[in-house]
Amino acid sequence: MSGIDTFASPRSAYLHIPFCHRRCFYCDFAVIPLGDKASGVKGPGSFSIQSYLKTLHREIAISPKGPPLATVYIGGGTPSLLSPHQISSLIEHLGQHFGIQDGCELTLEIDPATFSQDDLEGYVGAGINRFSLGGQSFEDRALAQLGRFHRSHHLIDACRWLNHSYKDGRLKSWSLDLIQNLPGQDLAAWRNQLQAALKTSVPHLSIYDLSIEPGTVFSWRQKRGELSLLNHDLAAEIALMTSATLRDAGFARYEISNYALPGHTSRHNRVYWSGAGWWGFGQGATSSPWGQRLVRPRTSKAYSSWVAEQEIIGPDSSLKPGNAKLMALDEQLMVGLRCREGVDIERLTRSWGWNSREREHYLKSLDLYWLSSFKRGWLKRCGNRIMLSEPNGMEISNQVLIEMIRWWESLPAAAVSSPNSEVLPRKVV
Ligand code: SF4
Repeated sequence: MSGIDTFASPRSAYLHIPFCHRRCFYCDFAVIPLGDKASGVKGPGSFSIQSYLKTLHREIAISPKGPPLATVYIGGGTPSLLSPHQISSLIEHLGQHFGIQDGCELTLEIDPATFSQDDLEGYVGAGINRFSLGGQSFEDRALAQLGRFHRSHHLIDACRWLNHSYKDGRLKSWSLDLIQNLPGQDLAAWRNQLQAALKTSVPHLSIYDLSIEPGTVFSWRQKRGELSLLNHDLAAEIALMTSATLRDAGFARYEISNYALPGHTSRHNRVYWSGAGWWGFGQGATSSPWGQRLVRPRTSKAYSSWVAEQEIIGPDSSLKPGNAKLMALDEQLMVGLRCREGVDIERLTRSWGWNSREREHYLKSLDLYWLSSFKRGWLKRCGNRIMLSEPNGMEISNQVLIEMIRWWESLPAAAVSSPNSEVLPRKVV
């Protein structure tokens, strides 16, 4: 990661599709539940989806141009509520506007029970070459507890179709999301989940801890004492089991929540974690093409008005290369430390503009904040690189990051303020 990379022209785009059948009990994303029968083409919800897609196309049309894209990620929400034709026209539009580089990684998030095998073929025909499947659990009881729309037989079918397409060479890769530490889960139940996932031959897994977000059904149940969350020791044992089981199966944990067989890491997600820029389109989507983040309005009405306004006054200043701004150093450390390779602290702080005396002084102070994390083996140093150990460091990453934030907040204002972008090195490719 470096400041220089931050100012290379973005080669990645994220498109947000905010619609879902229903809101899952743990989810606090800005989604629009359209009902169990919703579809992008006809029937319930189709008018909302089609009108949103028109606005999304308008936003792409007014974006500043850039070099051909190397990664595209269509996420949500539930993008598989859209038909292959709707997905194809979004990809075509990106292609006309930016160009799509040969070998571009095109990922579509899909939910079981929202697409058929024919739809899957259609998405592949539209150019999608990587799928991210929101499975969450192979157990019907857990899926019902999570408020999910699908059941395990839908997930097993979806995995079979995806694996078939991958083996045929029509897909570069596919990924499965699972949630660990569900209420009532024990080691045996979680072992079964991991075994069920490995049985599908999936080459990439994203494993998330259940977190209770304000305003969700789960948070309400927790307040009423109706949710028995796992105690800390059991949650830690489950997390260690995940790491050991997947390591034994040949997976590398290349980011706190992500495991891949060789050659299957997500190139798009690595863009976010590397500090490089990306375009973002859609309601609630975040973009950061030149270092400054822009979060679009989270409601349909506000997003549509925002796009109309941009059409009149021109794109937001954060979308123009002349306004490049380095991502805050603490944020760069935060995203960099999530990855297995960690951060090159010398290089990072040099790009931030600290001279050798400042680097020596401030980094000594960071070492003090991190003293106990190093002593306990949660953090490791390899030359100038600092990284979380696996599994222990990655499991308690929050604590290491909190210590880093305390250090950041202890620094003088001049040290934490962003260097003047005009004097920063900038590489436009
Ligand atoms: S399908 Fe995903 S985005 Fe939609 S409500 Fe459920 S968890 Fe949230």
